[in-house]
Amino acid sequence: TLSDRLADTFKNLRGKGRLSEADIDATAREIRIALLEADVALPVVKDFVAAVKERARGEEVSQALNPAQQVIKIVNDELVEILGGETRRLRYAKTGPTVIMLAGLQGAGKTTLAAKLALWLKEQGKSPLLVACDLQRPNAVQQLQVNGDKVGVPVFAPEAGNTGGNEDGGDPVGVARASIEEAKRRLFDVVIVDTAGRLGVDAEMMGQAASIRDAVQPDEVLFVVDAMIGQDALTTAQAFLDGVGFDGVVLTKLDGDARGGAALSIRQVTGRPVMFASSGEKMTDFDVFHPDRMASRILDMGDVMTLIEQAEKAFDQEQALKAAQKLSGGDFTLDDFLEQMQQIKKLGSMTKILKMLPGAGQIREQLENFDEREIDRVEAIIRSMTPAERDNPKIIDGSRRARIAKGAGRTVADVNGLVDRFFEARKMMMQMARGGGFAGVPGMPG
Ligand code: GDP
Ligand code: MG
Repeated sequence: TLSDRLADTFKNLRGKGRLSEADIDATAREIRIALLEADVALPVVKDFVAAVKERARGEEVSQALNPAQQVIKIVNDELVEILGGETRRLRYAKTGPTVIMLAGLQGAGKTTLAAKLALWLKEQGKSPLLVACDLQRPNAVQQLQVNGDKVGVPVFAPEAGNTGGNEDGGDPVGVARASIEEAKRRLFDVVIVDTAGRLGVDAEMMGQAASIRDAVQPDEVLFVVDAMIGQDALTTAQAFLDGVGFDGVVLTKLDGDARGGAALSIRQVTGRPVMFASSGEKMTDFDVFHPDRMASRILDMGDVMTLIEQAEKAFDQEQALKAAQKLSGGDFTLDDFLEQMQQIKKLGSMTKILKMLPGAGQIREQLENFDEREIDRVEAIIRSMTPAERDNPKIIDGSRRARIAKGAGRTVADVNGLVDRFFEARKMMMQMARGGGFAGVPGMPG
C-alpha cells in the first residue's frame, strides 16, 4: 500500500527539518502509482500530485508523525478536499414535488438505486413516488415494481401492455410527464424517475434522457455510475454531462473491490459532487457519500488515518504531560516561564495544559490577559539574566536587578514586577499540583 511504500521511501528521514526536493519527488512517484492503481484518470493524477508536492514543500517535518505518515496526511487532506469536504445535500423543490432523475449506463445500478433512495427518503419523512421510464428492457418496469414493493413505495408505470404497440418501448417522455401530474394529485413530495440506459454511450439514449429531463424539469439529475468500470467512468461521465447534464453523482457497487478512483476523476473533471454511495444489493446498502472514507479507500489505507490521528493526539498529550510534570515539581524556572509566555503568544498551548489541571481558572484568565508587547518586555528582561539567575531566581538581589534592568532597557521596578509575578505563578502552580492532584491528566496519580 501507499503507506508501506512511503515508509520505505523515508526510512532515513526522521528528524530532518523539511522534506527535501528528492524526498518530495520520491513521494510523488509513489502517490502517482497508488492513484493510477485506484483507477484515477491520468490527467487528474497529474494535477493532484502537483498539488500535493506544493503542499509538502511548505510543511515542516512534524515531530508527532514520521515523514511517511505526514505525507499520507497531506494526500488524504487534499483528497478529502477535492472529493467535496462535506457531503452535499439534496435540493428539494420549494413548491410541488421534488423531481429527481436518474441517468447512467445500463447496469450502472439505477433501478436498484431508485428504490434505495426512495427508502432513504421515506426514512426522512418524505413520501416518494417511483417512476418507471425505462420502457426498453423487457423486465425493467417489473424490476422497479419488485424493488418498490420491497421498500413499500408505489411505482408509477405505463399500464400493462400499453406500449402503443411499440416493441422496444412505449413513450417514456409521456410517462414521465404524467407521473408529475400524478404526484401532485396524490401529494407525493418526491418523484424519482428511473430511466433507460444502454451498454455504451449512444446518441439515441442521450436524446431520450434529455427529452425526459425537459418534460419533468428535475430539481436534481443524478448520474449513476458503477465504480467497477474504472478508467471508463470518466469518459462516460463526460458524455452524460454533455448529453443530459447532471447535478450530482452516485457511485454504485462499492461493495466490490473497486478502489473508487472514479469518484476523484469525476469530481475533478466535471466539478459535480458525489452525493451518494451504493454498496450492495440489499435496499439498505446505501449511504450519503463520505469523502473521508472514500479518500482512505482510494489510498487503500484502511486504518492508517486513525493511527495517524492517534499518533498526533498521543504526542500532544505527551507534551502536555511533560509540562504538567514540570509545573508540579517546583523546578519551574524563569526559562520555563519565558517558554510558557512564548507559547501563550502562539496561543492555546498553555490554556490547553491548564485546562487539564483542576482549579486552574484563575491563572488561566491571568495568562490569557497578557498582551503580546508585555510578553516581549518579559522576554527582554529574562534574556538579560544569566543562566544561573534564570535557574534560581532567588539569587537575584538588588545589584543584579539593577544590572538586568539596564541590560533590558527597563526600570528596576519592571524587573521587580516580573520576579514577583514569577514567584506568584510558581506558587500557584505548586498549590494546584498539591491541592487537586493531576486527576485530569491521564497517567498521573489523581
Ligand atoms: P440499471 O440498469 O442502471 O437500472 O441497473 P440495475 O439497478 O438493474 O443494476 C444492475 C445489477 O447490478 C443488478 O443485478 C443489481 O442487483 C446490481 N447492483 C446494483 N447496485 C449494486 C451495488 O451497489 N452492489 C452490487 N453488488 N450490485 C449492485
Ligand atoms: Mg434499470
